[in-house]
Amino acid sequence: MIIVMRDDATQEEIKQVMSRVEELGFTTHPSRGAKKMIIGIIGDLNREELIESLGAYPGIDKLVPILDPYKLAGRTFSEDPTVIEIKEGLSIGDKKIMIMAGPCAVENEEQVRVTAEKIKEYGATVLRGGAFKPRTSPYSFQGLEEEGLKILRRVGNETGLAVITEVVDPRDVELVGNYTDIFQIGARNMQNFFLLKEVGKTRKPVLLKRGLSATYNEFLMAAEYIMSEGNYNVILCERGIRTFENYTRNTLDLVSIPVLKKLSHLPVVIDPSHGTGHWDLVAPAAKGAIAMGADGLIIEVHPEPTKAMSDGQQSLKFEKFASLVEELKKIAAAVDREL
Ligand code: PEP
Ligand code: MN
Repeated sequence: MIIVMRDDATQEEIKQVMSRVEELGFTTHPSRGAKKMIIGIIGDLNREELIESLGAYPGIDKLVPILDPYKLAGRTFSEDPTVIEIKEGLSIGDKKIMIMAGPCAVENEEQVRVTAEKIKEYGATVLRGGAFKPRTSPYSFQGLEEEGLKILRRVGNETGLAVITEVVDPRDVELVGNYTDIFQIGARNMQNFFLLKEVGKTRKPVLLKRGLSATYNEFLMAAEYIMSEGNYNVILCERGIRTFENYTRNTLDLVSIPVLKKLSHLPVVIDPSHGTGHWDLVAPAAKGAIAMGADGLIIEVHPEPTKAMSDGQQSLKFEKFASLVEELKKIAAAVDREL
């Protein structure tokens, strides 16, 4: 259920309604949209009882039932698209498209620094890099762990880029949170509910990647896990799903952009690197994504892809990344966005 407050409702009236609802044993999720103040009420509730208890409160405009299974992530909760502030002066979900770029894995400080300087010069605002690498094989490089986090933070501070990195274990949320600006939840962990709840207890933005074979419903329910803990700063990321086709690493589902935007108010980011698995398919996929309304891209870039410790085959060299951003600017302008 959503309580829609009147436009002229006072702070005091809003507070009174919230405490009454909490007294009745429900959790409240207030949200101030561009026009209206709404209060989401989550819990097993009897509508008649609630109407009776709240009927006499001034300030309430109406009570609207939420039929979406994903109550907080769904469109009913917010008609306006959500804009998430990553840090001062940097947001996602507004007119400006966000480019996140960097190596698949943090390998050493020099690699991260040269990459960061280049991607910044070409227009990225967020530096990506994995310090904990969940690899298909336990014998592959597993990441530099805390040393990798320190490198990302140092380089992020030096360049002014925000940092995104993956957290794979609920026990590491605090550690990773000390270094990163955005938590990345990997595709393999999309339904690791303990991990989702743990990042949900923080207030840091979370980029949630779609699971390898997750439906939209499962994807949005995973977002709901994070939001139900009070962290509304969730960014959805389509990174390709598994289908019968195996020429590409995954099948990048670009239609997910309009679908997710119809079902949810959360920003949508596309990962054309994992979505295709081939460096030469990254640019066309990225261009398609912007044309279809994505709010951002997360792209793997490496100074020397042939020597990369992971995902070199899908990583862009600096020059390719630079020319891609130039082409993306034209597409962004055509769909009334900026880059
Ligand atoms: C990554 O971004 O490096 C990564 C491991 O992505 P995914 O979880 O989408 O496979
Ligand atoms: Mn990768």
